[in-house]
Amino acid sequence: MVDVENAIIVDVEATTAIRQAEVLAAKRMIQRSLERFDLYPGRILGDSAYGSAEMLGWLLYEHGIEPHVTVFDKSARADGTFSRGDFTYDHAEDVYRCPAGKILTTTGTPVNDDATILYRASKHDCQACTLRSRCCPNTPARKVPRSIYEGARDMAREIARSWEGRTSRRLRKKIEMLFAHLKRILKLDRLRLRGPNGARDEFILAATAQNLRKIAKLIPMPALTPA
Ligand code: SF4
Repeated sequence: MVDVENAIIVDVEATTAIRQAEVLAAKRMIQRSLERFDLYPGRILGDSAYGSAEMLGWLLYEHGIEPHVTVFDKSARADGTFSRGDFTYDHAEDVYRCPAGKILTTTGTPVNDDATILYRASKHDCQACTLRSRCCPNTPARKVPRSIYEGARDMAREIARSWEGRTSRRLRKKIEMLFAHLKRILKLDRLRLRGPNGARDEFILAATAQNLRKIAKLIPMPALTPA
């Protein structure tokens, strides 16, 4: 059972509100917590800002940390044709199965950013397919891209559907209330010092104040002796 009420902030890093900067800051904080305190998280809770395939891959494959993170996935198509989610990935065979039950295979060669692998249907299957207008109306055969980190995304999706995932989401809400407290009570909703260094100093001071408040609650009050 995690005691959120008495949670202590072990690291702080101020960033601009840009996804990439936030992801980089999260990676740095995880590394620092490990080096300074020998703290190695078994799981990470986060919203979709930390749910890119690359970040999930970094957590799971490089550090063995369970991603209890909302998956960031833009693969849904808006034009009514089948999205990647309509294709089923077969882990054992390393192929996709399309809605018509045909197989999409890959050569395994990464493309574009070296982090994507293409799975292709056979031209023969697609040309004869009755679902073609809903799948690949403008190309001879359907291609489905898959990130090399997609396995980590699949695991994050699986966790999200599980009892542990639901517990983590409740826990995350409680942790976010601590941040709300920082904003409302410690007035961190507006920074007073200028520049990145000023922001960093203000966040460190606020985290220190928050930690001291919690530590003070753990120290028993001395019994009052009558005068
Ligand atoms: S068009 Fe090709 S990939 Fe799409 S459903 Fe038909 S056979 Fe499968």
